[in-house]
Amino acid sequence: MDGAEVMDGAEVKDKICRMARSLGANLVRSCSVDKWEEIPIQEPEFWPKNIWPWSRNVVVLAIPLFAPMMDTTPSMVYQELYDTSNRVLDDMAYRLANYILSELGYRAIYFPRDCYYSIEVLVDNPNAAFSHVLAGYYAGIGTIGDSHNLLSREFGPRMRLVSILTDAPIPEDEMIEGNLCVHCRRCLKSCPAHCFTEYGDQPYIMDKVECTKHHVEIKNSHHWPCGVCASVCPVGDDLKMYRKEKTVTKEGIVHCQSFGS
Ligand code: SF4
Ligand code: SF4
Repeated sequence: MDGAEVMDGAEVKDKICRMARSLGANLVRSCSVDKWEEIPIQEPEFWPKNIWPWSRNVVVLAIPLFAPMMDTTPSMVYQELYDTSNRVLDDMAYRLANYILSELGYRAIYFPRDCYYSIEVLVDNPNAAFSHVLAGYYAGIGTIGDSHNLLSREFGPRMRLVSILTDAPIPEDEMIEGNLCVHCRRCLKSCPAHCFTEYGDQPYIMDKVECTKHHVEIKNSHHWPCGVCASVCPVGDDLKMYRKEKTVTKEGIVHCQSFGS
């Protein structure tokens, strides 16, 4: 518990990053809570230091969603992948926060990866308690695409995120300069609920309520979430091994959609 007295910020961060990777995180980045104020996107009630005043920094972890499984959406194969990624993320975040608290001697909590009770709740109140997309943006994991998904170089939007808030004095990572979105409009054209409206050279206006209603609909038909806007996005090194071919055949998609729900 005396680690805070003997280690500098870089050493603390190195330990946190090593632990996060040993727990299975592919990407680990951090930012100061001041980023929410310096580049204001959300209302102050969502800023970490207004939620938990002890917080000084946010550590963001990301893991991939496997493109071929995601490309079967909507299917039980994708739903199980989504559920598994959520369990893995919460488990990693719990263990990392506990490590920061118990082994390194700093305060730490984590925000679970979704932070809403059920998709139906979002129809009336379409905001989660904490945006991991914004945290990942401020921490340099990726940039926000026209689809409002966070796009990383490694996985495009095919990744899931979780965030740990701490008072550990860790240096922050650089944000990514420019925008990884190539403005191809595939997300706009593919959205089954027509949620996106073009808005000059800004990210599309997104109708969150329509997106949520679509999720309720497909949940009631026993396979969700949607994720088409992330599935069709061409950004991400994860697609390179498929050499621009389909990640899964049409027959494979039909098969996965025909069974299990
Ligand atoms: S998740 Fe589906 S319904 Fe929602 S914006 Fe993306 S493509 Fe549209
Ligand atoms: S599908 Fe195209 S327009 Fe949409 S977020 Fe990805 S790169 Fe941007």
